[in-house]
This record gives sequence, structure tokens and C-alpha cells, in this order.
Amino acid sequence: MGSGVGVYCEACGWERYFSFGRGLLSCRKDACLESIKAGEFGELAQRMVNELASDEIELQSELTTFECPHCRELVSGEFMTAHRIGTDEMPVVFIACGNVCPACGEPMTWMRGVPIEARVLKRVKKMLKKGCPECGGKLQRSSYCWD
Ligand SMILES: [Zn+2]
Ligand SMILES: [Zn+2]
Repeated sequence: MGSGVGVYCEACGWERYFSFGRGLLSCRKDACLESIKAGEFGELAQRMVNELASDEIELQSELTTFECPHCRELVSGEFMTAHRIGTDEMPVVFIACGNVCPACGEPMTWMRGVPIEARVLKRVKKMLKKGCPECGGKLQRSSYCWD
């Protein structure tokens, strides 16, 4: 279970969502395995999944928001923790997100760029004050839950 906060513009439809929290991927596991196999979580994750049968691996995902160290843009991303069932091996963490910031094009330093939720909420407040970056309209705030 996780939660998130979003801002949206009623006038032009511009929107941003920031998610937090953890969810067990029992129902989405196959879809996750597919995206790992497709390379979305990097080469290391791809190799691990290809070496193991799907019932040998336990996946847990966490949605989070990263902050670009260059321009402070907030970017949604996902952590995936993979654990080999029945072993004492340390779980491996993979990150799904672009390698470069969509706003400024600079490479992202994901691990260092993870902001805490309070910082994102502060940022959302600022966005609400400033208004829509596309049309200057009034922004609305929304909250949601995901699992
Ligand atoms: Zn707008
Ligand atoms: Zn940036």
C-alpha cells in the first residue's frame, strides 16, 4: 500500500503525480518479470531474472520520487527489490527510471536524488501557489492511494 499526492490544472489538463510507499507485487509479478526481462530495470536485473525461475524470486516494488541534482525537477521512479526465495542472499535493489533528467537532460544521480516526502509536499505547495506552468491557470491538489 502506498499513497501519493498530485497537482492538476482544470483548464488545460496539465498534471503531476508523486507516489510513495511499498507494495507487494503478488498480482503484478508476471508483468514485473516481463518488464525486468525487457531490460527496464537494467542489465543486472535482467540477468538475475533470466537465471531464476519465477517462483524462485520474490519482488517488492516501491514507488518514489527522485529529485534532479541539477535543476531540482521532480521525477517519478520505482525501486524494485528482488529476493531469491529460500536463500540468505541479500535482496538486490533495482531502479527503474530514465538515465537523464527529462527537464534538463543532465544525467541523474538517482540514489542521491531521493527526496523525502515532506520535501515533495513543500514543493507541491509551491506549485499550487505558482499556478499551472503551461497556461497559468489555478492548480488543484489531489491525494490518492495505490496498492
Ligand atoms: Zn493549465
Ligand atoms: Zn534536471
